[in-house]
Amino acid sequence: MSGFAVLPLVAVLSIAGEAPTPSPLRPQSIRLQYAVDLGLRASETFRILFDALAAHRAIVLIVARPCDFGRREACLLHQVVTAGGYRFLRVNVRDDPPYVRLAALIAHELQHALEATQAGLTDADSFERFFAAHGYICEEAHVQRCYETAQSLVMQARVVKELSREDARRR
Ligand SMILES: [Zn+2]
Repeated sequence: MSGFAVLPLVAVLSIAGEAPTPSPLRPQSIRLQYAVDLGLRASETFRILFDALAAHRAIVLIVARPCDFGRREACLLHQVVTAGGYRFLRVNVRDDPPYVRLAALIAHELQHALEATQAGLTDADSFERFFAAHGYICEEAHVQRCYETAQSLVMQARVVKELSREDARRR
């Protein structure tokens, strides 16, 4: 019987002994918040990205702004700030696409954020070196240099598929 008394106490102590884990995602508009909530609720891929970022103590600010003078719907800014044991990254994304596409665009950029975090990138130079080696150039004659990775496109497509299935179930 004593086991039943001890277990809850241990649980309480471990909760009291740890600082609460902050969410790795900080969406900065109502539509972005809704898309993040949708992704977490209905997309396994979105949740995997969320958990991986949390495990790496990364925090991603998601801001409703265009990229590359409006030529791209979303991008990861090439800068990481470390503070208080966390790495802060920033994603810009226009927040007016439909929610399934918006959640998929966010997942695409979260994959890039994870790549940058896992590689320990900190500034424009380290981003340039890493993505030149591990990505490919998005298009010719670009206003700003742009790299893509195959894995980000895979994650984006998975989220679309998972959320479309969710849409189908609701109908
Ligand atoms: Zn990309």
